Amino acid sequence: MGLLDGKKALIFGVANDHSIAWGIAEALHVAGATVGFSSVESLIERRVRPLAASIGSTFVEPCDVQSDEQIRGVMAKWQAAHGQVDILVHALAFARREDLDGSFVDTSRDGFALAMDVSAYSLVALVREARPLLHPGSAVLTLSYYGAEKVVAHYNVMGVAKAALEACVRYLAADLGPSGVRVNAISAGPVRTLAAAGIAGFKKLYGSFADVAPLRANITPEDVGRTALWLCSDLSSAVTGEVVYVDGGFNVMGVPLGDA
Ligand code: NAD
Repeated sequence: MGLLDGKKALIFGVANDHSIAWGIAEALHVAGATVGFSSVESLIERRVRPLAASIGSTFVEPCDVQSDEQIRGVMAKWQAAHGQVDILVHALAFARREDLDGSFVDTSRDGFALAMDVSAYSLVALVREARPLLHPGSAVLTLSYYGAEKVVAHYNVMGVAKAALEACVRYLAADLGPSGVRVNAISAGPVRTLAAAGIAGFKKLYGSFADVAPLRANITPEDVGRTALWLCSDLSSAVTGEVVYVDGGFNVMGVPLGDA
């Protein structure tokens, strides 16, 4: 008997098999959940549909999360196919490449609005449109990063968007809690993905991570998947509005001791 037998999970943000969303999808699938996917249209046929098929999933719908209409379309199709949403995963973000390099002070008004819209507001929009399908026991999960809390070189506008996203998690948790719906975030350590490749200096950040993290290792999408399984299952039934770190303890370090 799987932890998620009979549960239905809708996952936004798979780009390829390196995506954190894919690590989460595999963990939920192995635990018994029926999993469906939504991603940007250009990725659907080449990347997402074959991955979905590999775990027996046929629900694959395109959606640009900047469009309320497209989000509504996905929810309507999900309702027709599966009825309710037991688990909703938001694992996506975007900022212009030029805003993830150079000085934060140079962020353009447009670039700021775009990063906020795709990376933070989209969680609110997804939850709002999914709300009629959410029910007591449903769980919503999003992905954040340490740059929300402390300055991380080059993360710039995305750090501000992640700070907004984490605040959205708390406000959504307060709104939906009385209906028995939980909303949480995982703040993951650096993982080599398509999105990460857009951040200047990511290689350096990734390379030095294990020297500082107490567990002395980089983290993987599978690590994130296991914590996602906990946050999306009844094992975390009294946990909501939280940001849970999956970072080998990196965030607790102030002054690293080094290996003296
Ligand atoms: P990824 O490139 O695999 O996934 C990012 C996804 O965002 C892609 O599927 C992309 O299509 C989607 N996306 C971008 N704009 C969109 C739009 N307008 N509409 C719909 N989808 C859109 O990268 P990832 O690293 O797996 O990112 C998943 C999440 O994890 C993001 O929120 C990211 O910030 C977060 N995160 C990543 C890391 C890391 O180091 N990779 C660390 C912590 C948190």
